[in-house]
This record gives sequence, C-alpha cells and structure tokens, in this order.
Amino acid sequence: MTILFHHSAFEAHEMGPHHPESPARIRAVIEELESSGLMARLQREEAPMAREEDILRAHDRDHWEALKAAAPESQYAVIDSDTAMNPHTLEAVSRAAGAVVQAVEAVVCGRAKTAFCAVRPPGHHAQRDQAMGFCFLNSVAVGALYATEALGLERVAVVDFDVHHGNGTEEILADRPGMLMVSTFQQGIYPGWGERPLGKNMVNVALPGGSDGKALRAAVLEQWIPALDAFCPELIIISAGFDAHRDDPLAGLRWTEADYGWVTEQLIAVAGRHAQGRIVSSLEGGYETRSLGRSVASHLSALLLGETLGSA
Ligand SMILES: [Zn+2]
Repeated sequence: MTILFHHSAFEAHEMGPHHPESPARIRAVIEELESSGLMARLQREEAPMAREEDILRAHDRDHWEALKAAAPESQYAVIDSDTAMNPHTLEAVSRAAGAVVQAVEAVVCGRAKTAFCAVRPPGHHAQRDQAMGFCFLNSVAVGALYATEALGLERVAVVDFDVHHGNGTEEILADRPGMLMVSTFQQGIYPGWGERPLGKNMVNVALPGGSDGKALRAAVLEQWIPALDAFCPELIIISAGFDAHRDDPLAGLRWTEADYGWVTEQLIAVAGRHAQGRIVSSLEGGYETRSLGRSVASHLSALLLGETLGSA
C-alpha cells in the first residue's frame, strides 16, 4: 500500500502573488493524481502537526522559537529575499514535517510499504538554525532522525534529486552515524554549495547546466547505487524535487517525466534489496505546474508498480 499525506494548510501558506513557490503547485499535483486515476489507488491520510521533540532532533530550539515568534497574524513576515511567512505558514511547515514523521512510522511499522508526502513548503534548504530558499523546517532531516533516534533504525539513506543542492539536509546529517545522503543537483546555481561534501557520508553529484537524463542515469548507476548497496539502508527517504524538468523556469537541466519514473524504479530496486521495500518520499521543488503534476504522477506510478511487484 502507498499512503499519500496531504492537508489543506499546504495550500494556505503563500508568499505573495508572483512567488514561484505557490499554492498552485500543490493543486496541480492533486489534480493530476485525480485525473490520471492514481489517486484512487492511494490511501489518503491527513498530515499531522509535528511534535516539538521531533522538530528539535534536526533544529536548534532557538530556530523553532524564532519561527513561532515571527509568524504574523496578517500579511507577511519576511525571512529572506525569497522566503516569507503568512498566517498559515507555521501550521504548514509543522504539518509538512509531521507528514514525513508519520510516513516514516507507517512504513517502518509495516502499515504501508511506501508513502508520498504531498507537502509544501519544501524543506531541504532549511538548516539547523536557519530558514532559507522557500524552506523553514527540514522535513526530510526531521523524518530521518526520527527513524534512527526514535524508532531505532541503524541505517537510513536520504536521496535528493531536486535540481538545487539540499544544503540544509547535508548540514544537518553530515557525519551523523547511521545516515547516508546521495544527491544530484545542477552545478553553480542556488544555493551554491554541495561540490565539496561536508561529511564522509555524503555523495554529492553536481550535474552540468543543460545536461539531460543521461547525466542523471550515469550519476545514479555509477555513484548512487554502489554507495547505497554498500550502506544497506533499512529505509530510503527521498527529497523529491521536480525542478530538474526541462520545462522548469528556475533551473537549467533537461529531465523528463520518464527520467523521474526511471530514478524511482532504481530506488525501488535498492529498497527491495536492503530495506524491505520501504520508501518515504516528500515533495520539494518543481515550479512549472503542468510538468510538476506529470512528474509526480510518473514518480507515484513507479512507486505503485513497485508495490505490486513487491507483493507478487
Ligand atoms: Zn529546487
């Protein structure tokens, strides 16, 4: 079974009328899942608020207190040049992190094999003590640390295929025992880090601007999979950003829907070899709404197919 975590708060958070990280993104995802017939095959669950103890495994208390203090009662609270809070942001960020925690619990306890968190805002730029780049809390890092520290898993792999480097996740998880992070990202764009890994448990693959799915496939086959197989993860958590798509306006890679399906199939195979098929995926970027919807559908089609194969 694949669970889809969602909540109306993810549409209520917004950062201004022309901001690319908009509620239209999540609406496009839900509409595509419904019109493609995939939604009927998913178990929908409400994303819960994160518990403070879960947030504080990945973030300093000062950061969480500052977010709560900054939350406005009306209008916007500006965090940085491209990141702002409205009155619904705090609930959305808490439910985004809570969704990943609940998804981890569901797949580790065996209630489902895989789960997708249809959340926003994204989280992978959020550092231990800083919101940045449309991100406030690092939902994937919160979920990964919940898996090791609360549920007792010994090895968790985080996979990030967003076009931007997941600097926050890397900062939080670098050299943490029981963690491996593998990622691809476009060289030289925001946030400008990643080419020098911060820890021995980081496999960072910078892809040249303009490259297509061939470069992704080489990175996955030559760098990700050997590292993942050597690590033998008990759980895979995906930072699933879809802004490496060729139609995306924020970056310059040229992936297609088929590439997202292919990379998902590779991760299902790794999870099948080592992790009893357990995969939690959480939405990060993706700013062209039509290709975002179709790419998420391709990702979820592969996850659902993996379910069928795993239970056959
Ligand atoms: Zn991104």
